[in-house]
Amino acid sequence: MSAPAKGDLRDDERELLLVIAAGNVQEASRLLGCKEVRVNCLDEYGMTPLMHAAYKGKADMCKLLLQHGADVNCNEHEHGYTALMFAGLSGKTEITWMMLDAGAETDVVNSVGRTAAQMAAFVGQHDCVTVINNFFSRARLDYYTKAQGLEREPKLAPKLAGPLHKIIMSTNLNPVKMVLLVQENPMLAEPDALEKCSHVMELICEKCVKQQDMNEVLAMKMHYISCVLQKCAVFMKDRQDKLDGLIKSLLKGRDGDGFPVFQEKFIRECIRKFPYCDATLLQQLVRSIAPVEIGSDPTAISVLTQAITGQVGFVDAEFCTACGEKGAEKRCSICKMVIYCDPACQKMHWFTHKKLCKRLQEQRERHEMESAKHAERPVTVDATQTAMATESVEETTTALKDLSVELPRSSAKSSSDASSDTLICPTTSTTNTD
Ligand SMILES: [Zn+2]
Ligand SMILES: [Zn+2]
Repeated sequence: MSAPAKGDLRDDERELLLVIAAGNVQEASRLLGCKEVRVNCLDEYGMTPLMHAAYKGKADMCKLLLQHGADVNCNEHEHGYTALMFAGLSGKTEITWMMLDAGAETDVVNSVGRTAAQMAAFVGQHDCVTVINNFFSRARLDYYTKAQGLEREPKLAPKLAGPLHKIIMSTNLNPVKMVLLVQENPMLAEPDALEKCSHVMELICEKCVKQQDMNEVLAMKMHYISCVLQKCAVFMKDRQDKLDGLIKSLLKGRDGDGFPVFQEKFIRECIRKFPYCDATLLQQLVRSIAPVEIGSDPTAISVLTQAITGQVGFVDAEFCTACGEKGAEKRCSICKMVIYCDPACQKMHWFTHKKLCKRLQEQRERHEMESAKHAERPVTVDATQTAMATESVEETTTALKDLSVELPRSSAKSSSDASSDTLICPTTSTTNTD
């Protein structure tokens, strides 16, 4: 089949573009089944059906087109836009990821010299920027699962590639989350496996720095992952409580304000150990972090996250206090000042949060009282009564003594919706004994 010419569309190809705009996947599938319909046909602007689907934010349609052999790197658009650029403009992370997974080049520029990531950033689609900047194809990792040159065995056991790739693709750089990802895979949670993975990460880091179009962002990310894996290996070898011990160390808050000092120092140390001293990114990071006293803003994790993922601040989304995952919305039912993904994250954090919870509650109540005085209306106190099974009785009783929590003795008429977004602290389910 000869290369399609711009605007040279058959009737059913025109229909395909209309069907894509309307989002009718079934009809698109039927049309793509006709052998005269070219999946990479071009409209008068040089847009392919895939570009149309990506721009319109239609994920199912993109998937269908890719299955039918759509060329993800077609570059005939009059302003040099690619399907990845359209995906980024649409703001759909799922589609952006799909394009990357299908082999979209990230360093192609449009007619004014902008890459897909830069275009997405320009229109404020930061989630798409994050996806693009952090993409590292499985194929690039799989290279290390094959013996190269004179090697007798590959640097990475093939069975480790999957779990390692999952860590690489995570946009949550919180070390607690990474340790949890390690922990969930028994093959990876072995000192020897961890050291091998750590070494491969450093090799990729080096490659990112030395390749022609140096990618400092990815290099820093690989180095950082390498450091976390190395730390996991050390705890696996030296500590009886192994990775649980590492998680506890990372979460433990200092007396006074609960700030996780070990975590902060660990992340700073990772950055400092980046082996390429003249990298611009390293210098930026050090300049932002070095003058900050431990416990003040910005934290090392926020600076690192912004540098690597492009996520600006931690403003418009809620992040889990324990694992840093985005979109957490369950509040501690006592203080209502910290949020978690789920009871598991809350439980993991409770050993250190319990020292602070009561004080935070008092702070909040004082604050509410003051603003209520201002507004001259009574404060409404949420009745927290969702019963959530407590997993460890001893922990509960000890925590209870520490806290001497008293729940508001609400008249049980408060409706159910109030408590749906709160998490009962591991203490509270057995608190209301008189
Ligand atoms: Zn969490
Ligand atoms: Zn609390």
